[in-house]
Amino acid sequence: LRIHITPLKGANGRKMGVVCLMRDVTEQKRLEQIRTEFVANVSHELRTPLTSINGFLETLLDGAIDNPKVARNFLEIMNGESKRLSRLIDDLLKLSSLEDKKSSLNKQPVNLKELICETVKMLSARAQEKGIALTMAIPDDLPEVPGERGFLEQVLINLLDNAVKYTLSGGIIEIGALVNGKEIKVYVADTGIGIPEESLPRVFERFYRVDKARSRDMGGTGLGLAISKHIVEAHGGKIEVESDQEGSTFSFILPR
Ligand code: ADP
Repeated sequence: LRIHITPLKGANGRKMGVVCLMRDVTEQKRLEQIRTEFVANVSHELRTPLTSINGFLETLLDGAIDNPKVARNFLEIMNGESKRLSRLIDDLLKLSSLEDKKSSLNKQPVNLKELICETVKMLSARAQEKGIALTMAIPDDLPEVPGERGFLEQVLINLLDNAVKYTLSGGIIEIGALVNGKEIKVYVADTGIGIPEESLPRVFERFYRVDKARSRDMGGTGLGLAISKHIVEAHGGKIEVESDQEGSTFSFILPR
């Protein structure tokens, strides 16, 4: 609580009382804290790949470059880290552009079936490489939804990419859509490693990961689900997750 006290004086200069102004700054403090934490997280996330790249570079310059096998291994790691750094910067820019755009999406009728098919095509080679079966369950007469195509595509890519990342060889991923009254629900169900119950409410937070090391190894930025939530909510929809040891299902609902 922030309190301001101003004395009140009459015409003759005599004190007549005080004006006491109290303002609840809880929400303001909370927002400040979120912002501070976010900046600290961003700095940390940007520094981690850079530290790793610098370390390998120095070791190379100190002589490791003379051993071609070791040098190649280091260069591959540096390549992976620098790609992750670019992805991180792209994701941060996406988040901030979404924050700017919140109220001004450029909505057009979007053919979700077509969009899902394109996304599946984009990721099917990776799924196949990992020995994961990718199936679709989408009705032919799925109606169009009002939305910004590029953003909705981003959500589908994020969810499907995660399903491929967090599912082991031999697993199955199903992407489907259903019409429910005035809403359309899209889901991505996998038979992957699952998410512990206590982590479920946090997976949509920026930079939250169940297993930091695993996410990094997979090239993750920890921002995909935060971005997806932002996009779905900007479309007036809702995104949810259910998960147990048998796998996870991410779904989002969009108004028709
Ligand atoms: P990341 O870049 O780490 O994948 P996301 O924001 O996309 O970041 O996801 C946040 C975290 O949620 C991941 O690090 C992972 O722990 C968990 N997660 C997301 N999708 C899945 C999934 N399909 N199966 C298991 N865990 C998942």
